[in-house]
Amino acid sequence: MRCLLRLLLFVLAAALMLALAATLILPSGAHTPQMDTTGRLSTGIQRAIDAAAALPEPLRRLVPPTATATVTITPSPTATPTASATPTVPANGLVKPGPPFLAFRRPFDPPHEDRPSRSYPYGTTGGGAYLLHHGVDIGNPTGTLVLAAGDGRVVYAGSDAEITWGPEPDFYGLLVVLEHSQDQAPPLYSLYGHLSRTLVEAGQWVDSGTPIGEVGSTGIALGPHLHLEFRSSDRDYASTTNPELYLAPSTGAGVVVGTVCSADGAQLADAPVSLFQLDANGGVTWWASSQTYPGTGVNSAPYWRENVVFGDVPAGTYRLATDYPGATVDLVVQAGLVTRTTIVVAAQQ
Ligand SMILES: [Zn+2]
Repeated sequence: MRCLLRLLLFVLAAALMLALAATLILPSGAHTPQMDTTGRLSTGIQRAIDAAAALPEPLRRLVPPTATATVTITPSPTATPTASATPTVPANGLVKPGPPFLAFRRPFDPPHEDRPSRSYPYGTTGGGAYLLHHGVDIGNPTGTLVLAAGDGRVVYAGSDAEITWGPEPDFYGLLVVLEHSQDQAPPLYSLYGHLSRTLVEAGQWVDSGTPIGEVGSTGIALGPHLHLEFRSSDRDYASTTNPELYLAPSTGAGVVVGTVCSADGAQLADAPVSLFQLDANGGVTWWASSQTYPGTGVNSAPYWRENVVFGDVPAGTYRLATDYPGATVDLVVQAGLVTRTTIVVAAQQ
């Protein structure tokens, strides 16, 4: 009799555990990689694919057309921020990195535009229309004051007609370069190009927010804007990394730092990537598109090993989508934090 009772209790306990496990394991709608299960999602993904179709063929697909993809889903929305002291790449999830990341201010004060243009992000070519971008552009009228992004020493202020700072003379026109010292790391340099006027001199110390020049369109520029770069070596055009890793996000926004790679960890170059906003009702709205770095000319930051970055992303829930079938990831963005994410595209012959 006691044996029977025990058996009965065991069966009851097992049934309870199964029910509990089912509740925990079954994904909630917002974080499930639903592939074209709703019309709205299909539309969203289709827009990413359409955007990709507008690119030249070699940029569109780097795996055979028959390849299928698997997806690594990260991060968990409950991930806790972690400290940045370790030299290893932070795990996927929400990260509060230490300096120099998110440690620099915008070079403009409100009401001026202070966000980098989304149409020509770092490491892209504007769909093949422009040179590979070694920085970001912030559009403002000629004469708008440009402010130092951080405390630093002026390395250079003047024209690059005689002293080359880019791929050719008179590329940046009038520019200012600042050196920012770092604890236990080599200095980082910020470069401000296409200025109409410089307001500082080499050797001078400037505090963060000091006016250093005025917006213009000198050098190779289609209109008045600031070209902002971050470099690890002051004169080396090949030493840039993505400025959106260093600028503190706007109020209420975070930064998405992504790596699109194959199963063996190799970064996939020139892959179109789009970010979609997800709402509580399952709606999917396109937010921005970019492309992974081409593999040469621009660099991942060694700390992140990223190949795509979206800055100033308002806090919320998003879907990062490539044009590889099913290679999407849902993620959470929180104000003032980095959302580190990886999309693994596994090709199968
Ligand atoms: Zn630029």
